[in-house]
Amino acid sequence: MKILVVNAGSSSLKYQLIDMDNEQVIAKGLCDKIGLADSNIKHKAGDGREYAAEIAMPTHSEAFEALMYALAESDAKVISSPDEIGAIGHRVVHGGTYFNKSCLVDDDVAEKVDELKELAPLHNHPHYLGIVACTKTFGKDVPQVVVFDTAFHQTMPEKAYIFGLPYEYYEKYAVRRYGAHGTSHKYVSERCADLMGKDKKDLKIVTCHIGNGASITAVDGGICVDTSMGFTPLDGFIMGTRSGGVDPSALTYIANKENITPDQMSDLLNKKSGLLGISGVSSDNRDVSAAAAEGNHRAALANEIQRYQIAKFVGSYIAAMNGVDAIVFTAGIGENDPTLRTEVCKHFGYMGVKIDEEKNLIRGEEVEISTPDSTVKVFIIPTNEELAIAKDTLEIVTNLKK
Ligand code: ADP
Repeated sequence: MKILVVNAGSSSLKYQLIDMDNEQVIAKGLCDKIGLADSNIKHKAGDGREYAAEIAMPTHSEAFEALMYALAESDAKVISSPDEIGAIGHRVVHGGTYFNKSCLVDDDVAEKVDELKELAPLHNHPHYLGIVACTKTFGKDVPQVVVFDTAFHQTMPEKAYIFGLPYEYYEKYAVRRYGAHGTSHKYVSERCADLMGKDKKDLKIVTCHIGNGASITAVDGGICVDTSMGFTPLDGFIMGTRSGGVDPSALTYIANKENITPDQMSDLLNKKSGLLGISGVSSDNRDVSAAAAEGNHRAALANEIQRYQIAKFVGSYIAAMNGVDAIVFTAGIGENDPTLRTEVCKHFGYMGVKIDEEKNLIRGEEVEISTPDSTVKVFIIPTNEELAIAKDTLEIVTNLKK
């Protein structure tokens, strides 16, 4: 079956068409600047053929039409008819308390995805628009599945997800830790168990998804027992533009001093903080590291804080699980920044974690970067959220037909 994986953002729509018979990507692409004057599509077939065009995309609906044109009619087309698409899998950031696993889309599910936009302001509404646009193109004949970034974290015990706030806010508004990047943490922890040749039930793994957005998860026996992102993807440690955890009273103090509203504070914490806020250079790890190498103190400080905070989370999750068998690095920074991995792992030298610095330089593949005598295995495992979404979609659609 060919499955179309859709990741709709506020002004973009990323997609991959995956052949689940061999798990190969048939084509992938990006509709960018939706709603802006210079909206465009870039599409690449698995055999290297490319199609790119500036097309008016006032809404996600036109973006979806453009991607269907790219897939079925353009010079880089990969299918002869939309009928070849067996199912659609949507990435959804927040499932709230409604969803603890992936599920088939119906009207009620679509509405709940939209309702949860309060918890993930940058993501859930665009995901809903993506679902609506798909339904408009395919009608109800092609099953759609939603795969939630929060679902893997629903196994956390209460002690990990209840905040130190009056309990009534959990009861009234479901304010609690939900986590994010669950699809990635699940995927890399399962790949880690495979690479170690062990049953995931017998392993304690700390998975570090370090990209522009970043989170760390404690996976004990194959299930999530704690994770660094919280009520929204803001909690944890510093990211590209997000602050991670900050003393809450610092925020009320700044809000009073600067006379800023809760929405402005949310903007400050989500878009102006983290690597960008500290360095004043960029939210992009490569830019910050380059500026640090040229002697920019604040850029070097941003790098240092990021690595230090990551190490503290890894350490706290080793304590939470009372041990660790493997540490996994994934996502843009986790997969590509050897210095970050070295600096983080140095904090665990006391317990016998050792990195092979030559292996640490390998890129773009699954690799064990710890030395044979390291007490804990350390891996780089490129994440593949699209494949994980396609697998869940296939499973749900296959069960439908039974
Ligand atoms: P997103 O959360 O947007 O999916 P990614 O997982 O794509 O983010 O990660 C983006 C981050 O990865 C950026 O900060 C980028 O600088 C960093 N990155 C990408 N390639 C490299 C590299 N070769 N060295 C260091 N950092 C890198």
